[in-house]
Amino acid sequence: MDAKLKQELIQTFSERLSQAAKMYMENCSRCGLCIEACHAYASSPETRYTAVGRAQNIRRIYEEYFKKGKIAKKLNEAVELSDFWMEKVYETAYTCTGCRRCMTYCPFGIDTGVIQGIAKMMLITADQEPKALSMLADMSIAKGKTIEKTKTNFAAAAKNLEKEVLERWRSEGGEDVVPLDVQDANVLYVALAGKHSIIPAAAIMNAAKEKWSLSYFEAVNFGAFVGNPAKTKEIAGRIIDEAKRLNVKEVVICECGTAYRVMKHMTGEKPFGVITFAELIARYIEQGRIKLDKSKLPGKVTYHDPCQIARQGGIYEPPRYVLNHLTDHFVEMTPNRQANWCCGGGGGLVAIGEKDFRMKSAKVKADQVKATGAEVLCTACENCHTQLSDLNEHYGLGVEVMYLSDLTAKALVQD
Ligand code: SF4
Ligand code: SF4
Repeated sequence: MDAKLKQELIQTFSERLSQAAKMYMENCSRCGLCIEACHAYASSPETRYTAVGRAQNIRRIYEEYFKKGKIAKKLNEAVELSDFWMEKVYETAYTCTGCRRCMTYCPFGIDTGVIQGIAKMMLITADQEPKALSMLADMSIAKGKTIEKTKTNFAAAAKNLEKEVLERWRSEGGEDVVPLDVQDANVLYVALAGKHSIIPAAAIMNAAKEKWSLSYFEAVNFGAFVGNPAKTKEIAGRIIDEAKRLNVKEVVICECGTAYRVMKHMTGEKPFGVITFAELIARYIEQGRIKLDKSKLPGKVTYHDPCQIARQGGIYEPPRYVLNHLTDHFVEMTPNRQANWCCGGGGGLVAIGEKDFRMKSAKVKADQVKATGAEVLCTACENCHTQLSDLNEHYGLGVEVMYLSDLTAKALVQD
């Protein structure tokens, strides 16, 4: 590694060294309480898969460049930056899903997500981040800049979905089935690329007679996956600008945990509310705006709490409220809510592939699903859905993995 890159990496580290990050660097007592908390270690017990092991890779660099005293450095196993050590930095960033389960067990509340953020930014500085994530982030940013040129095509694609939306919920006559550019809408619905993220949601919002508008932008934020705060902000900014232009009351994020966390918790004050689609469905049921037929879902159903929505967003009850209106056979996983095991697909791992690691590191999740005896495994995040579907196949779980929105749309009562 040349001196110039070394200097740039130290500079990057220093820029990410907030007061909180400094505290996380200084305060680990090595008690080991976080070790068993990580699904990767619980599934495949290797030191490199512990939260404290990953953090140590970054802490040892910190000791070298941000602490004084030769003896202390030696005692704390300080290391100089090198090509070899950057491989450890990569391991810290991309064998961790950022699920923050470990944080809930740590007596000091050490946030592995912050440590992982330093690692990811160092990889970007060294041009060693997964290129697929950066490329996808750049594509989202470019779409924001050329949106006026692509609006007509997007509108035509939305129009093509009408028939399938109407199969789920009839038209009240004269209404736009997949509306775009609705000024003063109550809801700006931000979907993912793909009709699976639009059709059930459109049917549910139409059934509830909502005044809504479909966003021109996809919800997913690859800037967050790759750990680039500037790109994260720019990608989210496209949706914020659209919501302001339309003067909407709420931005409703589709079933994408990272998109929700970014929009709700990482973009500062906004003149509109931000909720998950699960919360919107729960509201419609509570207000009697949609009715659901429980006979559509006869077997046992369980729910996987997406880490970004549940542990990090505190959204535990709305999806359960919805499920209890969809079935009399809802069974909890053990553990659940804050202590739920991560599916093993977050942090960009699904997007970059990593299938062998994802399967190996999530055995504990597969065991947890199997133990419920459920026929349907429901979740409210696309990343989790992909990972759970892969686990289903890999471990022969014999479940049907389904989105909460899809289950709800299939159970709509058309009276
Ligand atoms: S954030 Fe999740 S994946 Fe990362 S070390 Fe902690 S428990 Fe493991
Ligand atoms: S639980 Fe907290 S203090 Fe203990 S080893 Fe893990 S990170 Fe360090």
